[in-house]
Amino acid sequence: MIPAIVFRYPSHVCPECRAHLIAYKTERRIVRSYSMGEFTAIHRIMKCSNHGTLFRSSMLESLVSPHCTYANDIMVEAAMGRFIKGYSCSEISAGLNNSISESHVRLLSNRGMDILMEIHEENIPRLKDAMNSYILQIDGTTDS
Ligand SMILES: [Zn+2]
Repeated sequence: MIPAIVFRYPSHVCPECRAHLIAYKTERRIVRSYSMGEFTAIHRIMKCSNHGTLFRSSMLESLVSPHCTYANDIMVEAAMGRFIKGYSCSEISAGLNNSISESHVRLLSNRGMDILMEIHEENIPRLKDAMNSYILQIDGTTDS
């Protein structure tokens, strides 16, 4: 069984009106990440009991794009491996214990390269640090 991690908006009250947030719905999805492996993300979307605004977990949204199984860190790792370290897609796939196919490495590393093009090369360690600190902040409560 793969681990489950709960993501939710960090506050219990609405930032605008201070009313309590109530559970709106729970979404479950499988995420494959480079630093955390495979896990089930349980996203508890909350709703302001007063004016109905929905509150999502910005942390989950920063870890993985909507409707994508592979976390952003896999994309960055694949892109760096391929375009900076010069590994082939099959070598990267093997390096990730074949949890990701060679053709997916190709697709994701192309997408990751678009992201890397937008940031200067010296920012890559900072980007990686930022991702690692995000991961450390995650509330590790499990849910069965
Ligand atoms: Zn409110």
